[in-house]
Amino acid sequence: MRAARTDETNFEYRKGRRALASHDAATALRALRSAVAACPATDRAELARRLYWLSIALRRIGKDGLAVKALSNAQRLAPRSRARTLYERFANGYGMPKSSCVEHDDYRAFCSIQIRKYLERVPDGRFADQDEIDTVLTMIADAWLKLYASTAISSVDCDEKLRIFREAGVAFPALRETRAARPGRVIVADFYRGRTQRTADRCLCGSGLPYRMCCGRIRPLYESDTV
Ligand SMILES: [Zn+2]
Repeated sequence: MRAARTDETNFEYRKGRRALASHDAATALRALRSAVAACPATDRAELARRLYWLSIALRRIGKDGLAVKALSNAQRLAPRSRARTLYERFANGYGMPKSSCVEHDDYRAFCSIQIRKYLERVPDGRFADQDEIDTVLTMIADAWLKLYASTAISSVDCDEKLRIFREAGVAFPALRETRAARPGRVIVADFYRGRTQRTADRCLCGSGLPYRMCCGRIRPLYESDTV
């Protein structure tokens, strides 16, 4: 019974690899998704391998955010793997897909942080309509220009940038009724060091990456919780 199932998921995995080789990214994505879903979580090396190829398929169809997420999980499962190498090349210092320039990376990180802050305050945690999205994005862009003009962003390191971005408050108007910030926020504490996790610390999951690039990475908003 067990052997039969293993063969079946191997079949999906091989089918995905073949589809990638013949430039059929959509088929590859479907096959590799089921290969990942069917892989036992205890087989870390195999799961990392499948996530690596899934990330390749995701990149081919332009889902870079999800590709980085798949790679992030893969490198965590197998810290000395191809996934790790690709992750370091493909993700920026915030754990987001690298863009063409550092300023753009900075802006996207700032934007993601501010949007999340905004959405934490509105009742259902999502935008009501396009107007609200436009208003919020415009305000964030203005705040960014002001911050960029007043602070020497380019001369500080990634951890300092993150601190500045998180502290920067955008004065959003009450477009809708707001609620108190979510009470269930998770604070990551390192009890061995006796303090909360800092972004430059090695991640507690043991991947060897800085926390900000691993479990503390900034998730783009369009990224769902499943790969
Ligand atoms: Zn981690």
